[in-house]
Amino acid sequence: MAEYDYDLFVIGAGSGGVRAARIAAGYGARVAIAEEYRYGGTCVIRGCVPKKLLVYASQFSENFEDAKGFGWHVGETSFDWKALISNKDQEIARLEGIYRRNLERSGVELHDTRAEIAGPHEVYLKAIDRTVTARIILVATGGRPFLDNSVEGVEHTITSNEALHLSEFPKRIAISGGGYIAVEFAGIFAGLGAETTLVYRGEEILRGFDDDLCAAVHNELEKKGIRVLTGEVFTKIERKDDGSFTGHLRQGAAIEADQIMFAIGRRPNTDGLGLDKASVELGSKGEIKVDENSRTNMPSVYAIGDVTDRVNLTPVAIREGHAFADTVFGKNARTVDHSMIPTAVFSHPELGTVGLTEREACETYPNVDVYRSIFRPMKHTLSGRDEKVVMKILVDADTDRVLGVHVLGSDAGELSQVLGIALKMGATKADFDATVAVHPTAAEELVTMREPAERHGRAVVE
Ligand code: NDP
Repeated sequence: MAEYDYDLFVIGAGSGGVRAARIAAGYGARVAIAEEYRYGGTCVIRGCVPKKLLVYASQFSENFEDAKGFGWHVGETSFDWKALISNKDQEIARLEGIYRRNLERSGVELHDTRAEIAGPHEVYLKAIDRTVTARIILVATGGRPFLDNSVEGVEHTITSNEALHLSEFPKRIAISGGGYIAVEFAGIFAGLGAETTLVYRGEEILRGFDDDLCAAVHNELEKKGIRVLTGEVFTKIERKDDGSFTGHLRQGAAIEADQIMFAIGRRPNTDGLGLDKASVELGSKGEIKVDENSRTNMPSVYAIGDVTDRVNLTPVAIREGHAFADTVFGKNARTVDHSMIPTAVFSHPELGTVGLTEREACETYPNVDVYRSIFRPMKHTLSGRDEKVVMKILVDADTDRVLGVHVLGSDAGELSQVLGIALKMGATKADFDATVAVHPTAAEELVTMREPAERHGRAVVE
């Protein structure tokens, strides 16, 4: 009889956990997975996928306006929030079904229950009140929205979880935060017609992204009628008799809104998971500490994805899950390279980025050339829309290597994926220059910028 019930027990069926389970099963391991909510996890059920569907929905209002310049007469339009949410829910249900079926086809045993660690090799399955054993336990429980309990009345606010399921469309919404989620949802609600206010505690939104691009996104948000308040936080939320809310701000002003949303970061899902029962070490935010092989201090327990708070992005969790399964069950040891990860903020317009920001490049390299191009995209010559594309290339002036590329504009997310390949391969500015342009596109600007707009650090030789 086998020493353990399973070779691998995965807790959490999000993108990372599912990938790990399927790959490990493919290597012949006896694998089980537990999920307490819905298969697919944050990305599929209440994150990237439904969010992107709502982003698409929110773009139509501008498309209808822009159509006029191209000779179209668009009649009266109206928007049905309930229809959008219902269609979105149907698509999410379809995807969840695919996740389940793929696991089953891979031979993974599915447990629809909360699972908690009961020891280094033991997992307690709550729904059936039973403890099973596994040689290896993988924790892939992701994260959850963080709420600031020091704000009085914070229980009246919603997070991105609820924003995707509101029964009524909020005509007025205020969003706290200045990161990915706050900026993306501000664009969604404003595009769908809500009076939208973004409340950010710092000087400029999207901290961590390139400064020029952050300022450009801020500018574009304001052009779309989104009120951006910087240096502000909510101190108290009051619910009024008519069901709407008053959000009181630190400096004394107040915002009236139908919903107040908090998007102030996420925290690893480790509460009550029994990690103490296996003596697994946690960090200060509750994240599971792991080594480069995603192994915790306990040799039988591994963790991947947002619960480890490394780079909190779906494709990274998938990579980590795959590398874990290859290493532990496939005799193909490999680690995940967390550098040069392309990413996108699905703002209006999109922000796509890969590599170092100007600030980071200048901190790391003595001589940095900055190529910058700001222009009106061709589409808006006829639409008349006042929207700019911003492109920026950062180059190590000593080696000619491209250190970072940042794009604000339509489909910048798509661009960042391809730019990621070039930068990962170590492309130089000369490689960009040697590439023939695709005309007429906005992206051709990336291979036609000839003169640096700024040169940092280089000693001027007369
Ligand atoms: P982020 O970490 O991106 O941003 C959090 C924001 O909230 C920051 O602006 C931060 O300010 C602010 N903040 C933090 N604490 C407080 C507080 N107590 N009071 C007021 N403001 C506060 O988190 P998000 O919630 O936007 O997203 C979570 C993660 O999800 C992201 O890090 C990202 O990895 C992932 N994600 C990725 C997406 C994508 O790839 N397109 C889309 C959505 C999410 P400050 O800057 O001052 O710290």
